[in-house]
Amino acid sequence: MVEIRSVRKSFGSHEVLRGIDLEVRTGEVTVVLGPSGSGKSTLLRTVNHLEKVDSGRITVDGRLVGYRRSGDKLYELREREVLRRRTQIGFVFQNFHLFPHLTVLENITEAPISALKRPRAEAVAAAHALLERVGLAEKAGAYPGHLSGGQQQRVAIARALALEPKLLLFDEPTSALDPELVGEVLDVIKDLARQGTTMIVVTHEIGFAREVADTVVFMDEGVVVEQGPPAEVLDRPRQERTRAFLSKVL
Ligand code: ADP
Ligand code: MG
Repeated sequence: MVEIRSVRKSFGSHEVLRGIDLEVRTGEVTVVLGPSGSGKSTLLRTVNHLEKVDSGRITVDGRLVGYRRSGDKLYELREREVLRRRTQIGFVFQNFHLFPHLTVLENITEAPISALKRPRAEAVAAAHALLERVGLAEKAGAYPGHLSGGQQQRVAIARALALEPKLLLFDEPTSALDPELVGEVLDVIKDLARQGTTMIVVTHEIGFAREVADTVVFMDEGVVVEQGPPAEVLDRPRQERTRAFLSKVL
């Protein structure tokens, strides 16, 4: 589903991604771990056309993420095509990013109606089904400000699912939550995993990684230091840097 080859990306003189290679197979869950500043968010953003790479290539579902630096005519996609492809990838942020002035239901139906031109009644019915799925059927009319962080994040997941994405990206989905609310969000993500949703999840939740990940990727300073099944990377890491990181977060 995702192929990342030799991807490099700098901000000014700071090279944040220094030759990333990564593959995510359809139906699999990849968990990305790594210290703050190692380039995890930047990597997710490049996959979702939110950040242009300097060199290397990324394909999603066989299609080039063609949004490089301007001037690279060969791969430069038109803005409309970028937006269209972006709707095929769901992105769940640390801080939920819900629209505060819209109800829960409207948050979920907004993109299907405006971007995908779905009939309103159809979008509303789908949104109710999604709210059921994330355990928030009774919150359709509420405003985000009246929900707990865990509930807001579950709405954000429902909103991402409303576009029926072929790939879901999570950037530290539970990092902004009070500890007692982390479980309800991870449970929703686990449910998606069981249903075969293809996902890349950046998280520090090692227990979640152990339980759900098909592949664990450890990043540090813009490189993939180590990757493999959780039983290898988490329990028998080969690299000293991975061991040092795990000893801090476990
Ligand atoms: P992580 O998610 O692993 O914490 P990030 O991908 O957010 O790491 O950031 C990696 C590095 O890139 C950090 O040093 C960060 O300050 C820098 N960085 C990220 N985005 C930008 C940007 N838009 N402009 C300049 N520097 C950035
Ligand atoms: Mg980050």
